[in-house]
Amino acid sequence: MNKVKIVEVGPRDGLQNEKTILPLETKFEFIKKLSETGLQTIEITSFVKASAIPQMSDASELFTKVKSELLNTISYPCLVPNLKGYEAALALGVKEIALFSATSDAFTAKNINSTVDESFVKMKEVADLAKKDGIKVRGYISTAFGCPYEGDEPVEKLVSVTKRFFDLGVYEVSVGDTIGVATPKQVRNFLKVLSSEFDMSKIAMHFHDTRGMAMSNTLVSLENGIRTFDSSAGGLGGCPYAKGATGNVATEDVWYLCHSMGMETGINLDKLIEAGQYILEKLGKNPGSKFHKAYINTGRI
Ligand code: MG
Repeated sequence: MNKVKIVEVGPRDGLQNEKTILPLETKFEFIKKLSETGLQTIEITSFVKASAIPQMSDASELFTKVKSELLNTISYPCLVPNLKGYEAALALGVKEIALFSATSDAFTAKNINSTVDESFVKMKEVADLAKKDGIKVRGYISTAFGCPYEGDEPVEKLVSVTKRFFDLGVYEVSVGDTIGVATPKQVRNFLKVLSSEFDMSKIAMHFHDTRGMAMSNTLVSLENGIRTFDSSAGGLGGCPYAKGATGNVATEDVWYLCHSMGMETGINLDKLIEAGQYILEKLGKNPGSKFHKAYINTGRI
């Protein structure tokens, strides 16, 4: 199968760690530009406490504006940390949510003040309601390949947490290399194990390019049956609970790799570059994507 699905996470995962708080209009314009690229899934915000992630404090207003003004053929999932966030999202008409945990207790303690077990108790409450309400649920696993506090994470933990997410009823699990420590060899080994346990069409990979391995890891994932990738236009991102974590893998880079292999993403490159350029200029940042830079400089692929 030569179709690849890209889940754009720039407006949420990309912006959540940016110190410059952008006005709602700028975020909306970014989402609008992304919506014109052909992307079918764009995670736009997070219903967290404003004190925890100030950049996401306009979640309600932003979602409402997106819902009323942009294409309803595109999925605009929102991250939901708890029941309160779920209720707020549901009331606004959110159709898809993302729940999150990690393989590491030390990480979930910092991130959501829970152990992994406790996080699943809370998420089950939300997932049960979502099932009843007809809301699609996606699951995120942080620290799958390594944790800033615990170090290496064995694949057995990833298998166990993935299984728990599917037991909650999620339609897809996104496996996150939160601090960008995964290597191609490790990804290959982990995916071999995952493929013996799960339907790989329901597994997405979420790479960070902190150590420059994101493209190699994406290639290994493609070769091992993965067809869904999370990425962030312009390579925005980081993690507020993982010191030194850099941006998500850039959507432009994933596009280029897929294109070079004859795989179809359904994304218009010029529109994607325009969206990335727009948000980078608003943040006063250079692109995290070498391909983005090269395309701007040379005007060609
Ligand atoms: Mg991320």
